[in-house]
Amino acid sequence: MNACRQTKIVATLGPQSSSEAVISRLLQAGANVFRLNFSHGTWDEHAARLRLIRDLGARLGRPIGVFADLQGPKLRLGTFADGPVALAAGTPFRLDLGDAPGDARRAPLPHAEVFAALEPGAALLLDDGRVRLEVTACGSDYAETRVIVGGVLSDRKGINLPGVLLPISTLTPKDRRDLQWALDAGIDQIALSFVQRPEDVAEARALIGGRAQLIVKLEKPSAIDHLLSIVALADAVMVARGDLGVEVPAEEVPVLQKRIVRACRSAGKPVIIATQMLESMLNAPAPTRAEASDVANAVYESVDAVMLSGETAAGRYPVEAVTIMDKIIRKAEHDHICRNRGNGHEVVPETTESDAVSAAARDVAATIGAAAIVTLTTGGTTALRAARERPAVPILALTPSAAVARNLALVWGVQPRELPIFADYEPALAAAIVCARALGLAHPGARLVVMAGLPLPMPGHTNLLHIVEIPEETG
Ligand code: PGA
Ligand code: MN
Repeated sequence: MNACRQTKIVATLGPQSSSEAVISRLLQAGANVFRLNFSHGTWDEHAARLRLIRDLGARLGRPIGVFADLQGPKLRLGTFADGPVALAAGTPFRLDLGDAPGDARRAPLPHAEVFAALEPGAALLLDDGRVRLEVTACGSDYAETRVIVGGVLSDRKGINLPGVLLPISTLTPKDRRDLQWALDAGIDQIALSFVQRPEDVAEARALIGGRAQLIVKLEKPSAIDHLLSIVALADAVMVARGDLGVEVPAEEVPVLQKRIVRACRSAGKPVIIATQMLESMLNAPAPTRAEASDVANAVYESVDAVMLSGETAAGRYPVEAVTIMDKIIRKAEHDHICRNRGNGHEVVPETTESDAVSAAARDVAATIGAAAIVTLTTGGTTALRAARERPAVPILALTPSAAVARNLALVWGVQPRELPIFADYEPALAAAIVCARALGLAHPGARLVVMAGLPLPMPGHTNLLHIVEIPEETG
């Protein structure tokens, strides 16, 4: 059954989900990819989680993706002298580079780059947008503001500057250390927070140097201004609705989600919907109706993956959250409205051999009622382009690379497996049939639609479509 779910589940690991028992139950419940959140926890804790995932993956014979989510330049206030302060709307409030702890009239903001970029009229959002300030005057080390929406501020609360392009790298010194550590630890993918411009992605990619894939988190309006070029530079994209929803008004989040998903679907890049999907399950064993609808709508939108954050990292019901997410996804995927998906024509094939074969494979599989599409893929591209067509049948992706197999765990409809035999087509095909049987994707007499680039191994060049009938089992 598990082999057939098309939309993938990403689960964040944290204090409530770091034992072997819980990680194993998250996998059984349907987690496909794990997220290690470098905003929290120590390297030792992340190393222990990664080791457990790798051991469990080996035991299950299943490629499981793991990504390191870098904290990024999350801006924070300094501290207050006498605990939390209440700001009333209409009153003045000052932020500056001074060292003295704050009070009800001013607070330290230890980020010179913020003052460098501010202009009168700019909006400052504090504590996830609960408090709103407007800059009335500013200089290189201070900003005078007026409180627009009042509330309580306390030590080290976050601050967002939605309309401001900050002259900073997305990689802080801590991120650079975490990145090197994660690459050395053998992480599969790196998620980059608070990307503002295409150059940020290029800079991170240069540091990664091909040792991991790059997931771009879209949570800044400035990144949306460069949506297409950023998507083109990314290996995968996350709609990071938490910070995005602070930076833009709530009513814009669903519109941007749709725009980002459409851009990713068109480019054939995996897209993850993140944050608050089952938020109420932090403290309750069942989701709200609105949360169930949010997950289901992401499935109808054809996204690659849906993500759990605090629900699995720090909530009281991590396993229940994955279990229910799995059920909601399956229910939506079995609805005919979802299965028909514009009869597969929601994206147009590009004029490449790869896309021609991918679109044909989808149609051939539907016409003959094939059990699965099989892609023999060296770098993963054949599987990605096949998935872009959103065929009705599972896509079995066989690759000689364990890393490619783990990266494909994130991709819609793809069941990745590592296949060491990859030098010649006939033996690879025989191994593929064994694999399809083991996954329950093929019984004798069923047919597979095979896509490959010959001669093998030939990265990024799909030129073969082959219909194969599963023979009777021998021996
Ligand atoms: P975060 O990113 O959980 O690391 O902040 C996701 C988001 O902002 O939605
Ligand atoms: Mn974020």
